[in-house]
Amino acid sequence: MSRKTKLIVTLGPATESPEMIGKLIDGGVNVFRLNMSHAKHEWAAKMTKQVRKESEKRHAHIAVLFDLTGPSIRTGDLEKAYDLKEGDKVEFRRADVEASIPLSTTVNYPGLMGDVAEGNTLVVDNGALLMLIERVAEDRIICDVRTPGSMGSRRHINLPGVRLNLPALTEKDHKDLALAVECGADYIAGSFVRDAAHVRELRDAMKALEGEAQIVAKIEDQEAIKNIDAIIQETDVIMIARGDLGIEVDFADLPILQRRIVKRCHELGTRVIVATQLLESMINNPTPTRAEVTDVMNAAYEEADSLMLSGETSVGRYPERCVEAIVRIASRIERSGGHGFGQHVILRDERQKTARAAVTLADSLVDARLVVLTRRGVLANHIALMRPRTAAFFAFTPKERVCRQLSLTRGIQAFQMPFCSSIEETIQRATEQLREAGLVREGTPIVIVSDILSDHFAANSILLHHA
Ligand code: PEP
Repeated sequence: MSRKTKLIVTLGPATESPEMIGKLIDGGVNVFRLNMSHAKHEWAAKMTKQVRKESEKRHAHIAVLFDLTGPSIRTGDLEKAYDLKEGDKVEFRRADVEASIPLSTTVNYPGLMGDVAEGNTLVVDNGALLMLIERVAEDRIICDVRTPGSMGSRRHINLPGVRLNLPALTEKDHKDLALAVECGADYIAGSFVRDAAHVRELRDAMKALEGEAQIVAKIEDQEAIKNIDAIIQETDVIMIARGDLGIEVDFADLPILQRRIVKRCHELGTRVIVATQLLESMINNPTPTRAEVTDVMNAAYEEADSLMLSGETSVGRYPERCVEAIVRIASRIERSGGHGFGQHVILRDERQKTARAAVTLADSLVDARLVVLTRRGVLANHIALMRPRTAAFFAFTPKERVCRQLSLTRGIQAFQMPFCSSIEETIQRATEQLREAGLVREGTPIVIVSDILSDHFAANSILLHHA
């Protein structure tokens, strides 16, 4: 695999068949995402099994990410969508009270009226409709429609800049989390993560169920931006969820925030995903717009670990073409270099300093390979974070789950292999596997990084040998 930027795609009606999942794996997908805002439990369990089956057939380490809905607000059920005009008045009310005006809908969060104030902006359906809150009562709010459009059932509501007192994990999230653990999810994403305590709550709830997934914190509002350092340090992975973030902040700030978060993740040692609308027009069209090509190029140039597709692959007409487009654009820009944020990693411990030394050595040799022997994937992630420039990078680990949990890490190709009782034998077996896969030739320099020398002795070490 010459491409370094990893790819996450969202499964949906357009991609749910085993054949399509297989084709997407062949096309270069590393992680499949199940969006629990839409997925039914039976379907999510079936998809997980299909992904596992298709991956096993191909001996590929493909991960499954369960994306929890989180504390989001939605409109209620309407018999028929409202066709709203500028100046119309719309009521959002608690579910236990009757409508007081003709255009009225319930909301799933009874505390909403206590959190908002007159003059706040209310955004419906990811920016499709803008309203101004005109009146706030105990059990309802009345809004003035500022941009015309249609409002259907269960539409998502954003309130830019408003601190909502919703719980970090809803009842639905707890049920979805239990399913994710039961299905053996590799990653679980928390939506609308506002602070580090939210990440801890999700991790504790997952561990209480004996889950082994890694936690992805979705950054989607201003509160999260304020607490970004603490969230980055608490979570395993950050997702820049640009769909909601682009509504919750001024859209002109979005590219700056993206770059700042990607850079900070490098500095503090956490993996980062850039998500949403990378190829939005390809939901209907077979080729990306020039602006989308540039957006994908930019995220790959920033050296994010993974890029994520949502509607493009869940409901779009051209899921395979979308995968092909990302692979082509990312591979192309990687040949031209990258931002180099990996140079700014804050080296906090000896293990990270060893990783830096190994990457410097490997990058200074002609046509070298980096090999990391890793039990939990921690050392492998440290090395990836330094963004090796020239050396191809392989991780060997005894556990299949660790291989899958490296699947969204930039630049790594993971191999499952039991470690031998001596380090010499482990290196020899790893080299043989690389040779058999055609990834090294006789004489290729290999820089091996490890924190295990044998079962009984641990030390950070760098070895240089030739295949
Ligand atoms: C986003 O808002 O960008 C996102 C990924 O979250 P969701 O698709 O769950 O709204």
